[in-house]
Amino acid sequence: MWGIDEKIEVAGEIIANARHAVVFTGAGVSAESGVPTFRGKDGLWTRYDPEEVASITGFRRNPRAFWNFSKELLLKKKAEPNPAHYAIAELEEMGIVKAVITQNVDMLHQRAGSKVVYELHGSMEFVDCLDCGKTYRWDEIEKILERDEDMKCQCGCPYLKPRVVLFGEQLPADVLSASIEESKKCDVFMVVGSSLVVYPAANLPMYAKNSGAKLIIVNAERTHADDYFDVVIHGRAGEVMPRIVEAVKRLRR
Ligand code: NAD
Ligand code: ZN
Repeated sequence: MWGIDEKIEVAGEIIANARHAVVFTGAGVSAESGVPTFRGKDGLWTRYDPEEVASITGFRRNPRAFWNFSKELLLKKKAEPNPAHYAIAELEEMGIVKAVITQNVDMLHQRAGSKVVYELHGSMEFVDCLDCGKTYRWDEIEKILERDEDMKCQCGCPYLKPRVVLFGEQLPADVLSASIEESKKCDVFMVVGSSLVVYPAANLPMYAKNSGAKLIIVNAERTHADDYFDVVIHGRAGEVMPRIVEAVKRLRR
């Protein structure tokens, strides 16, 4: 049984020799930025009903409940990228990571400098009025939330919906197929901060494995899929990822 130092070294070696690495992230990569996760011991689902606040039927019933929840998700502590986001962006800058596939809607990868980001569940960047069709940018919406005002369009309609995928909605087909392509063609597939329980996103590591890629996971706790991975590191993404990058720099010829 390896200790964490050896595992970080082995992960570093695999990544240093990669031709085309892909990083797949979930809520755990943003936890140290102060964005709460859904599952796990302090996860939001211990206090909120996902059907009520994060499904398309819940949104149609009561958009206000959705926005109260979103406020807690994204505003409680103004989230900034953490060392894990920066480490992943650095691996792209070094030419090793070719794509980041994320389930997150918080835009923190882009803010850390990642260029090729596939957002499987969309993002909060654009918010559309479902009545008149006006589009708002996140900055404007954020100001309304900060002022604690009612979320409604200039036309009076309360159905302002960000371009995120709610429960009951389809994933964007183009983003999903591009993510599957990336997973099939990579030689290293690294999961950072995901419980790997939401499908179809959680199938991606299997596409990579079936195509012969090496699999690495960095997650705070065990997942049901750990046995499929070549290297399993249980730890905090913001601590482990910068150490992996250090190892990569040392080992890369
Ligand atoms: P999840 O909440 O199901 O799982 C998160 C995983 O991260 C857990 O296994 C947990 O142990 C781990 N984790 C917690 N803190 C960590 C840390 N510091 N370092 C490493 N790992 C840590 O999240 P998921 O797998 O992304 O899937 C659920 C859904 O949640 C997705 O649909 C996603 O859209 C949504 N979500 C997004 C955000 C966001 O945009 N930041 C936040 C919450 C949920
Ligand atoms: Zn409107």
